[in-house]
Amino acid sequence: MNLILIGPPGAGKGTQAKRLEEERGLVQLSTGDMLRALRGSGTALGERAAAIMATGALVPDEILISMIGERIDRPDCARGFILDGFPRTVPQAEALDEMLAVRNLRLDRVIEFQVDESILVDRIKKRIAETPPEQRRADDTPETLVNRLKVYHAQTAPILPYYRGRGVLTVVDGMKPVEEVAKAVATIIDGRA
Ligand code: AMP
Repeated sequence: MNLILIGPPGAGKGTQAKRLEEERGLVQLSTGDMLRALRGSGTALGERAAAIMATGALVPDEILISMIGERIDRPDCARGFILDGFPRTVPQAEALDEMLAVRNLRLDRVIEFQVDESILVDRIKKRIAETPPEQRRADDTPETLVNRLKVYHAQTAPILPYYRGRGVLTVVDGMKPVEEVAKAVATIIDGRA
């Protein structure tokens, strides 16, 4: 089972991906986490990515595409994977299709998490308040969030019609409590929605 979770920052994709990883043995592929690891690697590429991420803009498509291509070839992905944060642009979605086709893999579902912006802002503020300064994400600031939301609407939301047209997209209400969202996701994955 190969899934994409899509939604604005703070929509709860990571939380649900982690649950699916534990409950179903799928692998969470979070491009944000991969880029943060790259940033810690001390390489020039890591530094370039870090500078972009700090503004809330997107890291160039070619970096992400090769990162995901390399990752899905690892043996742990054979049982299925959950893409969390990828694709984020139409070219990334097209590249993903190609990557899956050449590997004879298929995309089972794309799940969109819908959350009102005012709630996202409140969630990020809460996340900042609850996280010790040394563990906070550099891009978790109210200012960067505004830009990340803009980028989501301008560059990522245009992917949705692409998947809707192929009949693989299902929407969940990401404003419900975590347990209820998890149930809605399970219903979709089990083919009951
Ligand atoms: P996230 O943890 O998913 O919120 O990602 C944090 C940041 O990493 C984003 O704001 C982007 O700068 C970068 N990033 C993550 N995934 C992608 C992607 N698929 N394409 C481009 N940039 C990405």
